[in-house]
Amino acid sequence: MTKYVIIGGSAGGIGAVEAIREVDPVGTVTVISEEKVPQYSRPMISEYVSKEATLNSMKYRGDQFWKNNNVQALTGRAATKIDFTKKQVELDGGDKISYEKLLIATGGKPFVPRMEGGEKDGVFTFTELSSAEGIEAKLEHSKSAVVIGGGLIGVSASEALVKRGIKVTLVELKDNILNLILDKTASDMAEKVLTEAGVTVITGQTVQRILGKKDNDGSVGGVVMTDGKQIPCDLVVVAIGVIPRTELVKETPVKLNRGIVVDRFMRTNIPDVYACGDVAEAHDFLINGNRLLPLWPLAHMGGRVAGYNMAGKKAEYAGGTVMSSLKYFDLLTIAVGTVNPKELDDYEVLVELKPEKPVYKKILLKDNVIVGFIFLGEIEKAGILLRLLKNHVDVSTIKEELLSDDFGIVTLPEQLRQEMFVVN
Ligand SMILES: Cc1cc2nc3c(=O)[nH]c(=O)nc-3n(C[C@H](O)[C@H](O)[C@H](O)COP(=O)(O)OP(=O)(O)OC[C@H]3O[C@@H](n4cnc5c(N)ncnc54)[C@H](O)[C@@H]3O)c2cc1C
Repeated sequence: MTKYVIIGGSAGGIGAVEAIREVDPVGTVTVISEEKVPQYSRPMISEYVSKEATLNSMKYRGDQFWKNNNVQALTGRAATKIDFTKKQVELDGGDKISYEKLLIATGGKPFVPRMEGGEKDGVFTFTELSSAEGIEAKLEHSKSAVVIGGGLIGVSASEALVKRGIKVTLVELKDNILNLILDKTASDMAEKVLTEAGVTVITGQTVQRILGKKDNDGSVGGVVMTDGKQIPCDLVVVAIGVIPRTELVKETPVKLNRGIVVDRFMRTNIPDVYACGDVAEAHDFLINGNRLLPLWPLAHMGGRVAGYNMAGKKAEYAGGTVMSSLKYFDLLTIAVGTVNPKELDDYEVLVELKPEKPVYKKILLKDNVIVGFIFLGEIEKAGILLRLLKNHVDVSTIKEELLSDDFGIVTLPEQLRQEMFVVN
C-alpha cells in the first residue's frame, strides 16, 4: 500500500508533495500524471508559444523534483477509476494502487463545443504544453489564426501568436473581451492595446463552423462566422473556457457541485480523500462560501493544506477570491473580487480614469468595506487594497484617500494598519 497517492502533478500536486515531505520524510508517495512533464507553469504557455520562455525556464520545479522528494512519479499515466471502498486507484492498463490518503488534483480541461470542422488538423486548445507544442509545429507554415473566446486564455493566445508574426482575429461572443474579469471601461482599454498590437477583435459573434483548405479539406483553411462572413486562417485556437476534471468522481459518493466540494482542510466528504486546485470548489473569503477559483497560487496553497492534513499536521485553507493579474503587451491590470455587479444600488464606486496614459482605477465598496477593485496601468497600490479587502477592513475614514497618489501603508491610521495585517 502507498501511503499517499496524488492524482495530478501540477500546482496542487506539487504543493501537496512539498507539504507532505515537511511533515513525513519517509512515507511512500505516488504521483500519477497524464502529462509527461507536469511540473511546468501552466500560465506561461503563452510565453512558451511567443518564444519568451523555454520549457526549461517555465519549469515550476526542476527535473529532479520527484526524485529529490522520494516520489514515485508515474508520468504519462492516467488514473481511470477510484474505488473508495477498497481505497484503490486504477490506472490505464489496469494496474491498481492502494492508498491510505488520496488527493485529487486533476485540474481543469478546456471546454470545446461540438462544431462542424472541429476535428480538422490545425484546431487547438491552449491549456497544456502539448497544445503549445502542437501550435509550435504548425507555426512555420501558418500566416493567420482565429482565436475563439476573448477571456484570459484567448487573449493570452492572441498575444503569443501576434508576437510570432501571425495575423490574429480574436472572436468574442459577448460585447466585450475579458468580460468575466473586467468592466466595460477596462475591457475597452485592453481591447485598444490588443488592436494597436495588430489583433483584429470581433465581438458579439462567434465561429459557426471551421472550413478546410481548398486543396486539403482535412486542414484548417478558414472559419464561417455567425453573420456568414468567412475569415481565412491556418489555425483555430478554441479558448472558450475551462471546466473541472471531475470525471473520476462522477457517479461516486464524492460530493460534487460544479467542482469537488471541500472543507477548509481540503477534505472531501469521503474519509481520507482530499481535493484541491481547479477541480475543487474551495473557500472564497469574499463570499464566505465555496466556489471554483481556477488560479495557480490557490491551487498550490490548497495542495499544501491538503498535504499537511494528509500527513497529520492540521492546517486550514485561508481561501482566495476572484483575482486576475494580467499583462498584455505591457499593460498591467489587476482585478480582484466584485468589479462588475449587475445592480450597482448596494455599492459605492470610486473611479479614476486617465485614458491617455492609459490608467483606470475603480474601487467598489459595500457598507464601507472594499469588495472589489480594478487597477489598470498603475497597479502599485493593489497589494494594500487586497489586504484591506481580504480583512474586511472598514475604510470609511480613508475613503477619499484610496485613489490619491499619496495613499500608502504609511498614510493609513495605526488602527487600520493593524486590522489589515491580521492573519486569517
Ligand atoms: C493559458 C493559461 C493561462 C493561465 N494564466 C493564469 C494566471 O495568469 N494566473 C493564475 O493564477 N492562473 C492562471 N491559469 C490557471 C492555472 O494554470 C491553474 O489554476 C492551475 O494550473 C491549476 O492547478 P491544478 O494543479 O489544480 O491543475 P492543473 O494545472 O490543471 O493540473 C492537473 C494535472 O492533472 C493531470 N490529470 C488530470 N486528470 C488526470 C488523471 N485522470 N490521471 C492522471 N493525471 C491527470 C493533468 O494532465 C494535469 O497535468 C492559467 C491557465 C492557463 C491554461
